[in-house]
Amino acid sequence: MSNKINCLDLQRQHQFIKAEVFELFEKVYSDTAFSGGKFVDDFENEFATFCNTRFSIGVNNGTSALHLTLMALGIKSGDEVIVPANTFIATAWAVSYVGATPVFVDCTSDTWEIDPEVVEAKITNKTKAIIGVHLYGQPFDIDAISAIAKKHNLFLVEDAAQAHGAEYKGKRVGSFGEMACFSFYPGKNLGACGEAGGISTNSEVYNKHLRSLRNHGSTVRYHHDEIGYNMRMGGLEAASLSVKIKYISQWNQRRQAIAKRYHEEITNDKICMQKQPEWTKSIYHLFVVTTDDRASLMKYLNDHDINPGLHYPIPCHLQKAYSYLGYQKGSLPNAEYLAEHCLSLPMFAEMNDEEVNHVIETLNKY
Ligand SMILES: *Cc1c(COP(=O)(O)O)cnc(C)c1O
Repeated sequence: MSNKINCLDLQRQHQFIKAEVFELFEKVYSDTAFSGGKFVDDFENEFATFCNTRFSIGVNNGTSALHLTLMALGIKSGDEVIVPANTFIATAWAVSYVGATPVFVDCTSDTWEIDPEVVEAKITNKTKAIIGVHLYGQPFDIDAISAIAKKHNLFLVEDAAQAHGAEYKGKRVGSFGEMACFSFYPGKNLGACGEAGGISTNSEVYNKHLRSLRNHGSTVRYHHDEIGYNMRMGGLEAASLSVKIKYISQWNQRRQAIAKRYHEEITNDKICMQKQPEWTKSIYHLFVVTTDDRASLMKYLNDHDINPGLHYPIPCHLQKAYSYLGYQKGSLPNAEYLAEHCLSLPMFAEMNDEEVNHVIETLNKY
């Protein structure tokens, strides 16, 4: 192996689509459609079709998608929102941005998804919503969480930032809750040449409200009906996404083929993988494993030209920013175990078979 195999390589994908992207960039440039406009409208329609939802609203990043979603639900100071502790921090930020309190819950010990068994105990009369995260590209147990939300009259939001095209019981994520939030950060499975995010929904009311909120609370120029934000999607970002969405299913399939090989061919029992219930079809944004002695495995992989990632080394409830909430170490043991023992193997569509072989062989010799 001459070069290190990284967790993610953005170079190859962008070389492959460069001519197509640049051609569309020319059009954005000659139309000076840099903020909102035709190219954003086009991508929104393409993404709504991809998610099988009536509407898709483009915004400036995935964090804003979550923030505006909670605003559209009317969540505010004094409210509580249930969030898994093992997620990227932005899921929790959105709750804080609207002045509400994130209430962190544990994941299961094997699927690493939000644990339906522990959610109900965290519901109080202040709870307004549950945000489920399709972690690493694998859908959480939507039926179980949705049943709890219905029973307690709570909103359900999908954080699908890592899960463009993932399926739950044969249906793509994006329409299981009131709204679903996506990130098009460059490193995501569907990533822009720049920062971008989106919200999908089947609700006309949320669609209208989100379009106003992202554009200074305005539907008629210089008339501001409520305090809004500048969270529009850029035209160049949208154009790059319109090119990439043509390939996303093919890229996801390649990731699924690599994951299948990892599952079948990595036979070392020092390596533990995310359990995949039969109702999920992951798109493997990340391929995370756990092992008893992570430091030793990290060093071993690095010595063998493999550069693993860490997603994520500190769970949300133990972040300094949330120390005011008073969570102690030991309070959410499965999320803490994962944070301390996880490691992300190389996973991207452009990995060649030689590289996949090398990862498998190296792990089996560990
Ligand atoms: C990436 C990500 C976000 C935030 O998206 P940005 O586009 O980076 O703002 C939110 N939630 C999860 C689970 C993510 O992975």
